[in-house]
This record gives sequence, structure tokens and C-alpha cells, in this order.
Amino acid sequence: GCLPPVLADPLPRRLSVGVDVGGVLVGGPAPVVVQSMTNTDTADVDGTVAQVAALARAGSEIVRITVDRDESAAAVPKVRERLDRLGVTVPLVGDFHYIGHKLLTDHPACAEALAKYRINPGNVGFKDKKDRQFVQIVETAIRYDKPVRIGVNWGSLDQDLLTRLMDENSRSPEPLSARAVMREAIIQSALMSAELAEETGLAREKIILSAKVSNVQDLIAVYRDLARRSNHSLHLGLTEAGMGTKGIVASSAAMGILLQEGIGDTIRVSLTPEPGGDRTREVQVAQELLQTMGFRQFVPVVAACPGCGRTTSTVFQELAETIQNDIRINMPVWREKYPGVEALSVAVMGCIVNGPGESKHADIGISLPGTGESPAAPVFVDGKKVATLRGPAIAADFQLMVADYIER
Ligand code: SF4
Repeated sequence: GCLPPVLADPLPRRLSVGVDVGGVLVGGPAPVVVQSMTNTDTADVDGTVAQVAALARAGSEIVRITVDRDESAAAVPKVRERLDRLGVTVPLVGDFHYIGHKLLTDHPACAEALAKYRINPGNVGFKDKKDRQFVQIVETAIRYDKPVRIGVNWGSLDQDLLTRLMDENSRSPEPLSARAVMREAIIQSALMSAELAEETGLAREKIILSAKVSNVQDLIAVYRDLARRSNHSLHLGLTEAGMGTKGIVASSAAMGILLQEGIGDTIRVSLTPEPGGDRTREVQVAQELLQTMGFRQFVPVVAACPGCGRTTSTVFQELAETIQNDIRINMPVWREKYPGVEALSVAVMGCIVNGPGESKHADIGISLPGTGESPAAPVFVDGKKVATLRGPAIAADFQLMVADYIER
């Protein structure tokens, strides 16, 4: 068999308080939102506009940009303006660390242009000024009617809080492990910061929480607890997930389990790109994660078997790839022209064992001949066999049939 059985349905989605981020609802009844982050210097307006536009075109529904100094804060309204002129309406989130309070105060046009501010409670300020500077950002958010994400990250965890919890734990008759204390510190940092923001006057409808760690089991434990202890909208993400397949697998494993349990309102897949690599890959992975779990549909699904000793030729893999590429290239046009096209399913199978069965389950499917089978490829449309393709043009003929199906 080539396909795993479905073991259980996902748990109902945790009901969180929805937050409007520049017209995109995160949480509440909204579907899980895909977001991403640029890696350009925001002061480089051209480069940042190009990357935000590419991420948005790839399907990122919210894009975060770094705002780390005066030059980048000054560039934010220019980036927004240029994107608007290009017709790219994706909401921009400012990522602030250390001096966010100052940058937002000194650059009102930046505060206005952003759709949300990300605050890291672990580095929002220094020692005794921490709370005051946190409150300063929250007050700016209230003034400009913007939501915030309180984004705790274990790499920049509030050390005073961690030290206090460690001390308390060491005096406890039943001390927890250091790892459990660290998890608790992350959760408390998020919850206490949210409380402070609400006491300052920011409504819960304006607060999203995240608590990112880089270990899969820690992430699952932290978010399960956070979900149980609050009803804030939650941003999921594994921080420092890593490069290539490692980052993809780790993010999918961690977020897949949480999403299955109904936890998570927006996701970011943080992948370390290869030098010069395509930043939009993280958007593609996030979409595929949500789509493959059945939570959202972004692009038509191409089901292809893995191939085995019954398929010595590479024809079916090439055909599956061609169909996939056709879809990727044509989707921007198809989405406009054929509403609902993202729900399409195509099957490209390698032999008679599972080929006809899987093809019948798809909207349109082909079963290519395996080794030793007669050189004929039955095509199924809406569960019925409609044609048998033969000869060297099988792939091209099937491509045409898919295009024709979409058009019809
Ligand atoms: Fe299954 Fe046939 Fe594909 Fe092999 S070639 S993986 S048996 S459908």
C-alpha cells in the first residue's frame, strides 16, 4: 500500500480571541493564517519591497520586517507606499527588539504604516526600565489602534524571570527539572506580558502570543500549556528550525501535532535559507503543511506514488513534476479565472497496483504502465475512465486533459 490510513479527525479548533492584523483575521473563526519574514535590511527599500512582494505572491498573508534602527524605521512608510503602488496589500509587521519603544516614538510614520508590532518581552528594555519601555510600545499600539504580538523566544528569555523561577524551584520540596522550569518561564513571560498590556489598556482583541523554542518536544509542551492557560490568539513557530529537510521536518512535526489538537491561529515556518536561496520556500512549506493536513486549500493537490521496482522508467515522476510545475506557474491566473481551482486533485500513478484506484479518487488521474504492463495509460475523470493514452505523447496529452478539465 502507498497511502497511510486516516487514524483520527483533528480536535476542534481552540476558540481564541480573533485579532485583526491589517484586515487579516488571526484567530477566532478564521482559518490558520500563513505568515513569513523578510531577511533583507529594511533600510534597503528596493530589496525589501521586492522580497515582501515575492512572499505575498507566494501566499504569505502577513509579512514581518525587521525594524532595528532609525534608518529601517524611516524606510518602513516608503516600503508600505511602494507596495501599495504595486497593488501588494499584504499587512506588514514590525519586528522590534531592544529599542522598539524609541523607534516607534521617533518615527510616527513607521508606527502608522505597520499593521502590527512584535514585542519581545525578553529584550524590550534594560533591567528596571523593562516594564516602562514595554508599556511605552503598548501605549503606541493603543494610540495608533494596532495589535501587538508578544513574542517570547527562549534564546532571549527574560533572565530575571528565569532566575526567580529557578530559585523558587530549588526551594520547592518537589523541584521540577531545569527544562520544565525553562518551559514555565517562557509561558509566564508571555502571560504576564499579556496581562501588563491589558492593564495598560490594550484589548485582548489586539494581542497575539507566541512562545518559540527550537526543540520539538518543548514547543509542543509549551503551546499545549499556553493554549490551556489563555484564550489569546496564538502564533506558532519553531525558532531556529534549521536548514533544508531538517528544518522542514522539525517544523512540520511540532506544528502538525499542535494543529491536529486545534492549537494555533497563524504559523510561520522559519527555515534557514541556503545562501542566495529562495525565501518563499518557507511560505510554500507552511501552505503544504496546512493543506496536507486538510485545514486549508491553496493549490491543487498532485498525488503521486513513490515509485518502486514495478516502475523502472522515470516517465511518471517526470509527468508528476510537470503537472506540479504547470500548476505553480498558472495558479495566479487560474485563481482569478477559475475560482475554487485550489480544490482540484490530480493523481499521477506508476502502475496498475494502486494506479486506477487512486486515479478514481482524484478529480483527474492517470495510471501509467509499470514494468511488464501493456503500454497503455488509462485516464480517469470524476471517477470514470474516459480515455486510454498510448505512445510517446502520453505526458503531453495528459497535460492537455488537465488544462481542459480546469477550464471546464
Ligand atoms: Fe505502488 Fe505501483 Fe507506484 Fe509501486 S509503481 S508505488 S506498486 S502504484
